[in-house]
Amino acid sequence: MGKWAKRILLGMLVLTLVSGIGTYVFVKRAVVEMFGGNTQIAEPLPRAADAGPVFITNVHVLAPAADMFLEQQTVGIKDEKITFVGADAPIPKDAQVIDGRGKYLVPGFTDSHVHLWRSENDLLLYVANGVTQIREMHGTERHLRWRSEIEQGRLGPDLFVVAAQLATYDFFEGLWIELTAERNVVRSQNDVQSAVATLKSKRYDAIKASSFLSLPGYQWASEQSEEQQIPLTGHIPLDASLEDLWASDQGEVAHVEEFVKALDREFGGYRHDSTEDFLAFVREKSAEVARRVADRNIAVTSTLSIIQSFSAQQMDLKPTLAGVELEYVNPGLAEGQAMGWLPETNRYRLADQYKTTGWKDRQGAYWAAYAEAQQILFEALRNAGVRMMAGTDANVPVMVPGFSLHGEMQAMQEAGMTTAEVLASATTIPATWMNWKAGQIRTGYAANLVLLRENPLADIAATRSIETVFVNGHVLVRTRLDQLLESVRTANDASRQESLDFIR
Ligand SMILES: [Zn+2]
Repeated sequence: MGKWAKRILLGMLVLTLVSGIGTYVFVKRAVVEMFGGNTQIAEPLPRAADAGPVFITNVHVLAPAADMFLEQQTVGIKDEKITFVGADAPIPKDAQVIDGRGKYLVPGFTDSHVHLWRSENDLLLYVANGVTQIREMHGTERHLRWRSEIEQGRLGPDLFVVAAQLATYDFFEGLWIELTAERNVVRSQNDVQSAVATLKSKRYDAIKASSFLSLPGYQWASEQSEEQQIPLTGHIPLDASLEDLWASDQGEVAHVEEFVKALDREFGGYRHDSTEDFLAFVREKSAEVARRVADRNIAVTSTLSIIQSFSAQQMDLKPTLAGVELEYVNPGLAEGQAMGWLPETNRYRLADQYKTTGWKDRQGAYWAAYAEAQQILFEALRNAGVRMMAGTDANVPVMVPGFSLHGEMQAMQEAGMTTAEVLASATTIPATWMNWKAGQIRTGYAANLVLLRENPLADIAATRSIETVFVNGHVLVRTRLDQLLESVRTANDASRQESLDFIR
């Protein structure tokens, strides 16, 4: 080879390397941005000096079964635990006393399906909305770090961290997915075994099956869940049937919608012009599906409202965005291409090529049937006594962290649950599933509590009438909760590249 040929070859090699690194850096920065990592961090409030005991007096207390209020109770709190529940407490002199007359004390709420991504300010949004526990469904090392910071006094909800989903892709797609979506890519039995061992050693609380996990991958994950004693949660993979679910060790299904999708696969894929047949099929199968879920003791997370929002997002996005607390959504997420909320980036927007004559009728019929199928399954699961957990899929449009759980509880009430069942699905049921001594107002349980002005057993909408939140030793009265919200809005506004004026 001539001297010049060698130089040209070397030059090309250097160019390839430089452009490869350049692309990597560029993609990595874009990923950080669109998952909310560049948004200003809201100014945290100084930690309140509330180390001493706190007593809430003369208050209505939600009974452990979440079905009635005990009148005229006193609740004592110290060191992040409930120390007393009863009629007459010996109140120590140094105690802070909160008059609870005419108010309703309930356990702090749990959102069992959230995505924090890189959005740290969400921790404040949860607290400000009385959501004192969350289950992160795409956990990464960031979330493990936030969890331990919260354990050490940082203001935020308790976190149950489900490791980012196990998924199967070929080599190059796998590299891309690991880089952009941070999923745990597994292809062989060995991959699954070592991924689960690593995740467990890092103290993730559970592992998650994705829609894109191969059937063998799902079966290996199930084996490893049992062998390594770590719960398996998440989706029913597209390659798996309900029979595969019954044969698995999966202890929770992350959406009622997963059963709609599984039945749709059995049906052969319904269309806008076969909705009646599909719904008849779902009606015929639903009781048996629910019975099997109950027999296998699988918990199911609701995520009703996000499914109900699909058609509104496709057809009437602006009014839909105007109807949620968009100013609190991390602008990196709202504006970005990954989980976009806004008209140009909305994750559920329909590509123009499908907007041919009659598209609104077709889409409307399709999504109405989808929501109806979900409703049928929700009722069947409830009737079979399945443990239901309230969850929103927060940060997927249009589920605003913290706020959306109250909308979800309302959706569950509208779907036929009693207020007591809804409250249990957001308090005691998820706490029990997550193995937390929380979610009930009992001595020795976590003092994560919410003081309400109105009675949520009369109308679940009362969960929004928040007066004070108690979380991990912090006592946050209404004015402080409003300050938290204000600080997030200010940080978001400073980081926003696109104005929200279009919804006004
Ligand atoms: Zn999700």
